Amino acid sequence: MIDLILTSRCTGCNACVIVCPTNVFEPRGGGPPAIARQDACQTCFMCELYCPADALYVGPDCEAPSPTDEATLLASGRLGQYRRDSGWDEWADDPRYANQHWRMDAIFARARAASARS
Ligand code: SF4
Ligand code: SF4
Repeated sequence: MIDLILTSRCTGCNACVIVCPTNVFEPRGGGPPAIARQDACQTCFMCELYCPADALYVGPDCEAPSPTDEATLLASGRLGQYRRDSGWDEWADDPRYANQHWRMDAIFARARAASARS
């Protein structure tokens, strides 16, 4: 579940607002978005993946928040971990972090087909 936006890192780009499938965030005029609907978070990590500033933290508990703070996260080394391990952006050419998202293609195709039928 989304737990925190680090105001010290957030550039206000609103990429997280756009990619979140359940509209958890509310834009706030160029500043860090608000986590307006935390209960709607489905722990998909899309916001972490698309955040270019590694300014978000999604905790591993899907059912409940995992309270934390900026200092703890900055010291933890966990920020940006999902984007890195997914081999995105500056990690794209690093063989340690292969982008495996193509493996989801069949799942997305099934979802698209089911959506078209309904
Ligand atoms: S983890 Fe997914 S559902 Fe939750 S806030 Fe991020 S993008 Fe939205
Ligand atoms: S994607 Fe990251 S930098 Fe952009 S608004 Fe969201 S938290 Fe801030």
